[in-house]
Amino acid sequence: MNDDTILVINCGSSSLKFALFSAQQLNCIASGLAEKLGTKDAVLSVKSGDEKSSYCLDDADHHIAINHVINTLQALKLLVKDPLGIGHRVVHGGESFSDSVLIDETVLAEIEKCSALAPLHNPANLLGIQLMAERYPSTPQVAVFDTAFHQTLPETSYLYPIPYELYTEHGIRRYGFHGTSHKYVAEVAAKQLNKPLAVCNFITAHLGNGCSVTAIKNGLSVDTSMGLTPLEGLMMGTRSGDIDPGLFEFLNKIGMDSERISQMLNKESGLKGLSGQTNDMRTLFDLADKGDEKAALAIEVFCFKLAKYIAAMAASLPSIDALIFTGGIGENASRVRSAALEKLAILGFEVSHSLNNSNGRESEGRITEPDSTLSLVIPTNEELVIARDTLNNAVK
Ligand code: ADP
Repeated sequence: MNDDTILVINCGSSSLKFALFSAQQLNCIASGLAEKLGTKDAVLSVKSGDEKSSYCLDDADHHIAINHVINTLQALKLLVKDPLGIGHRVVHGGESFSDSVLIDETVLAEIEKCSALAPLHNPANLLGIQLMAERYPSTPQVAVFDTAFHQTLPETSYLYPIPYELYTEHGIRRYGFHGTSHKYVAEVAAKQLNKPLAVCNFITAHLGNGCSVTAIKNGLSVDTSMGLTPLEGLMMGTRSGDIDPGLFEFLNKIGMDSERISQMLNKESGLKGLSGQTNDMRTLFDLADKGDEKAALAIEVFCFKLAKYIAAMAASLPSIDALIFTGGIGENASRVRSAALEKLAILGFEVSHSLNNSNGRESEGRITEPDSTLSLVIPTNEELVIARDTLNNAVK
């Protein structure tokens, strides 16, 4: 048996996701999540095949959690020697990175610079890199950026219509996120269509807790709904998406400072804000089915904004080879998909209710009628892309 592995790390501010892949086949051997780090409820869950285990981490910080992850993988005999490479999800690569890179001092300094653009994410990603470098000083580490795939956006899409100097002097522009997921599902769709990605035109909708849509022309990202930060665009679980910038002045006047406004727009808005209850789409369906009007309204607004943004993405494309749904909601919530598709008859979509109800996370495939514009459900796999890019960059 070949014991070579690739370890994928996604280090957040209070959580740490990981996945261990065999380097030979790139199949996932184990995955897991350490969450609520820094609190007394810190916990680690590990999944390997059908086996699931959970460990109480007692106040653990990232350092303790990462060591616990490695020790657990070793104890389970899943990690028997140092990994061949370690891949990190890094949220913001600014204009410096249009692809994944092998991490060195220069790369670290650039990621640090991009922290100004993603103060909630990049410092945590950097911490993950630093901790793994301490544990495995001679193992190559690779950074895979959420923004990289969108570095092909044209000026018309990435510039905000505000004074130009704000772009040149402060880097204020649209960057886009979820790039790894948009790219992955586009690659899978191209394979299904039996066409090179370089001749495919897609609209991809990544709908998880965070949501974004992307227009992909000839295989390249040419427009996307998230901007300078992951707050712009679609309505999301707890994020507002687009709002009138005039709201800021109004909210200031009623006594909210910028920190409070940011908290409200990032954590208390979206599905949670409108429903007044939860950001979880499954729970909202249950509530709406029991007659909860605010839950039903939140779902309706979500689907309307989604359809509106998909239509907006069409403005960047000469034709649509497929509209692809992915992410927790995109893969599972057939009601959201059909509600959006029904509003998009103008683009030639006609939902097939039987296909839409039977296809999803477990069986990817077509969800529109044969003679209408193609829409597909394709489960995303960001960890696999990170493992693949790590292997390619680390073992060159
Ligand atoms: P994250 O962006 O945090 O990775 P996910 O991609 O897992 O999140 O998506 C989470 C969302 O997917 C939640 O709103 C959840 O309710 C929704 N979801 C998951 N399974 C289902 C389902 N069977 N039906 C409807 N929504 C679902």
